[in-house]
Amino acid sequence: MIEKIIIATHHGFCMGVKRAINIAEETAANSNEKVTILNEIVHNESVVNDFREKGVSQAFSVDDVHEGTLIISAHGVSPDVKEKAIARGLKVVDATCPLVEKIYQIVEKTVPAGYHMIHYGEKNHDETIGVQGHAPEHITIVSDEKELLALPDWKERKLGLTVQTTAHEEAYYEIEKLALKKWPHIDVFNTICNATSKRQAAILELSPKVDMVLVVGSESSANSNRLAQIANNICGHGYLIDTVDDINDEWFENGAEIKDIGISAGASTPEYLVQAVVEKLVAISGGKAEVILPVRKNRIRKISKAAG
Ligand code: SF4
Repeated sequence: MIEKIIIATHHGFCMGVKRAINIAEETAANSNEKVTILNEIVHNESVVNDFREKGVSQAFSVDDVHEGTLIISAHGVSPDVKEKAIARGLKVVDATCPLVEKIYQIVEKTVPAGYHMIHYGEKNHDETIGVQGHAPEHITIVSDEKELLALPDWKERKLGLTVQTTAHEEAYYEIEKLALKKWPHIDVFNTICNATSKRQAAILELSPKVDMVLVVGSESSANSNRLAQIANNICGHGYLIDTVDDINDEWFENGAEIKDIGISAGASTPEYLVQAVVEKLVAISGGKAEVILPVRKNRIRKISKAAG
């Protein structure tokens, strides 16, 4: 029987996601011409569908956009994508998160100064592709320790290290340690964003206290996946669910020992999806579960106890 539902101190929408959604909404509301979002505005199915329902188009290549305004998503793109869009006569509205742009600025400063950059990130992620596009010949992407260790000695070369904004912090620190051991002269730029750090710290704090953690977020969301992995490693029952419909009733049947459940959400997950999950869990408990919401700085308080 579910007894407690505890919401992670930091979860859900981050600054960069809110900003990108606002930019896209304002652009769509104020435009008389066709508006197209390149890729997913943020990596969340529900948000993407909301824009589709509002009549905003989506494309996965600039080649497929023939008119109107093109919105660049929060994850950014390589400069040649923007140049191509402008050359095709499109109006470009850039919703790239400023913290992703910070990586571009590091690359734009270090590469002309003779650096070769190593970027730790997922090779097929939009953000990584955009970063590499800023200096394709001068950035090597590594996804794990093995790939890092296989790189040349580069003793005489100026080197820099950057990292995907949503990387797993602990895994990144291992990469950083190995990089410094292999190339003591490497300049390290930890570009994991504050929102990622806070959400990972919150799930590290929450997971040992509960029997199960549900992370609300889409499969395409790197940071949501990471939160679910961290929770699963700690409490053994960490699940990524896109919406309330992914809750599996069997998790709570046949005498399953799930009493306390932690809830978190990726940086691209709207709060209404989190609320729907909480409501469903309260319903599964027969209205008896206590819902505990976060307040400032790791302090938590009880806000409700549904009548039982
Ligand atoms: S997760 Fe970080 S980098 Fe990504 S949009 Fe949010 S604030 Fe920006």
